Amino acid sequence: MVEKIYIGVAWPYANGSLHLGHIAGCYLPADIFARYNRMIGNDVLMVSGSDEHGTPITITAENENITPQDVVDRFNQEQTENMKQFGISFDRFTRTTTNNHKEVVQDIFKTLYEKKHIYDKEVESFYCTNCNRYLPDRYIEGTCPHCRNENARGDQCDECGNLLNPQDLHDVRCKLCNGTPKLQTTTHLFFALSHFESKLSEWLKNKEHWKASVLKFTQHWLEEGLHDRAITRDMSWGIPVPIDGFEKKRIYVWFDAVIGYLSASIEWSRNQEDKDIWKEWWENPKAKHYYFLAKDNIPFHSIIWPSILLGYHESLQLPYDIPANEYLRLQGQQFSKSKGLGIWVPDIVKQFDVDAVRYYLSMNMPENKDANWTWDEFVIKNNDELVGTFGNFIHRVVTFTEKNFQTIPPQEEFAEKEKEILSAIDASMNAVSENLSQCRFKQGLKEVMNLAKIGNVYFNEKAPWKQLTIDENDCKITLHVCLKIVKALSICIAPYLPFSADTIWNMIGEKSSIHDRSWNDYKEPLQMGYQLTKPKPLFTKLSLKEIMPETNPFSKLDLRIAEILDVKDHPDADKLYLIHIDVGALGKRVLVAGMKSHYSPDELKGKKIVIVANLEPAKIRGVKSAGMLLAAEDTKGTVTLLNPGDVKPGSIVKINDIPHTPEKSLPFDQFLEVKLTVNKERKVIYENQLLRTEKGTVTTDHPVEENAEIH
Ligand SMILES: [Zn+2]
Ligand SMILES: [Zn+2]
Repeated sequence: MVEKIYIGVAWPYANGSLHLGHIAGCYLPADIFARYNRMIGNDVLMVSGSDEHGTPITITAENENITPQDVVDRFNQEQTENMKQFGISFDRFTRTTTNNHKEVVQDIFKTLYEKKHIYDKEVESFYCTNCNRYLPDRYIEGTCPHCRNENARGDQCDECGNLLNPQDLHDVRCKLCNGTPKLQTTTHLFFALSHFESKLSEWLKNKEHWKASVLKFTQHWLEEGLHDRAITRDMSWGIPVPIDGFEKKRIYVWFDAVIGYLSASIEWSRNQEDKDIWKEWWENPKAKHYYFLAKDNIPFHSIIWPSILLGYHESLQLPYDIPANEYLRLQGQQFSKSKGLGIWVPDIVKQFDVDAVRYYLSMNMPENKDANWTWDEFVIKNNDELVGTFGNFIHRVVTFTEKNFQTIPPQEEFAEKEKEILSAIDASMNAVSENLSQCRFKQGLKEVMNLAKIGNVYFNEKAPWKQLTIDENDCKITLHVCLKIVKALSICIAPYLPFSADTIWNMIGEKSSIHDRSWNDYKEPLQMGYQLTKPKPLFTKLSLKEIMPETNPFSKLDLRIAEILDVKDHPDADKLYLIHIDVGALGKRVLVAGMKSHYSPDELKGKKIVIVANLEPAKIRGVKSAGMLLAAEDTKGTVTLLNPGDVKPGSIVKINDIPHTPEKSLPFDQFLEVKLTVNKERKVIYENQLLRTEKGTVTTDHPVEENAEIH
């Protein structure tokens, strides 16, 4: 039975580049799901677009002295291009600044107003008499009541992270002119979310198929009681409010953006033969609507958007499932545009094979808990699994067949073992299918890889290179069966790795794009007699050393744990000690260090410390120092050694995601490029990341000021 599947994917904000957190959070899972559904014959409509209104965009425009339209044009173009490069197969990727979108939003707004789900209410709002305007939250700055940061914004303090209302700030000022705004009474329009409480509760009753986290989150919101929300703002960038008396105001960006799910469908429809075809998804009670997004977006899709739909028109379909993902983190931290922390899609599509990135993101998808992107794991998964298991199987089979027979050998009588393999193919295809239909993408991919492993084992057991010398016919049977596995693999990997799947498909003589074919085509006979050509490897091995930005000077350091064995005075310098240390596998050495005024020899003996083991040896007052111990010094002159805890001498001190690729001998000026400091919790950090041993983090021996420098 053909099902109508609607897939709405969260709208990326047009104020910055996409990063891998966005891709893993929603675009990739949505795309895998869409491609799978198309292959099993369902009618899929997948839409999204750039979210182009709101104050962050006007602020960017003001900072860069360009118009908001310039900002959104730039990022819409980039996002559209990146989605294509990443293989995200939208039926329509549009934007919220189209006329169509404006019309749909205004129609919904007016209807809700007429039905009294939108009402006006007086509120106090900051007004700047210099600028002659009301100020939205982001245009107000002042002192944070929690942490005294003087540059807190009207909506949030970036220092302490607290969410704020403009009225909470002390010493408020206008971001535009630095003047002091005054509170004035103004009228805004409110959306009566409270009207939909009982309908939403009713609707949630048969949502047992939802992820537990999404359902719980939504139920919790409902139990807290729904509050009406202001949906107009005092600004000029945005969709005009279609109500008399509100000409100067604009519709709040979140209210307009979610309506994009409907407006984009209508826009797509206009280019189809049947202009009203969108109704087959939206006004069809059998259509299933899926929304893909990251967890911070859940209430907009499970509460606010359904309420708008319920208030607007009873006939429109509500979400069937909202398989929201958790976050993908980078080195344990949240991707963040403002902190410049992320792996940006425009960079990554230039540097890597998109399918290799899609593979790692799918295997590491933050489906039920946060996941972490690490470069070394990316390399390992690529080299061991994608190249080593999957790519290698296909390459061996096709290369061997081409070399010895040139064409795909015909199907002969199959023995028991071969029948077993054929049913293993069926079982794998069903398992992948089952997982994909339930949005369990990670598990689905594991099943694909399992089939590749079955192929490798079978190929090795049969050893066609030996069969070739004994009975050529047996060899042909083995290859035929292996090629059947190759065919099945290309189909079940197609939703995940759309580009490589097509390459494999054509490699074995199948015509047209695999994405126009159906899931069950793996059962069809092979293209027997097809003239094979010598295949190129599907994927390439990566080397961590090559891909890691070598600009990171930390990777050149060889930080090690050492144990102090003995401490002697320097023969020619009052302030220096000669410190005898044991660095485990690296042997014993002597360091020269100016610790005399801070530690007595007895305090030092037996202590575990952190040293730079590969520093170019230097003569200090006539004595060679083989390395350097690390200590923190703050502005008050407090000096303290680092405390690595009870870790074996010789073990490496590292940062999770930075590879340990030390130079043999590190010049001192290169060491100086690495700025290690101490954070609030006395932990040692480098570029906001914690220094770690195999047992935990490195702290300081004694209390020291935050930001104390380490050298
Ligand atoms: Zn604060
Ligand atoms: Zn002002």
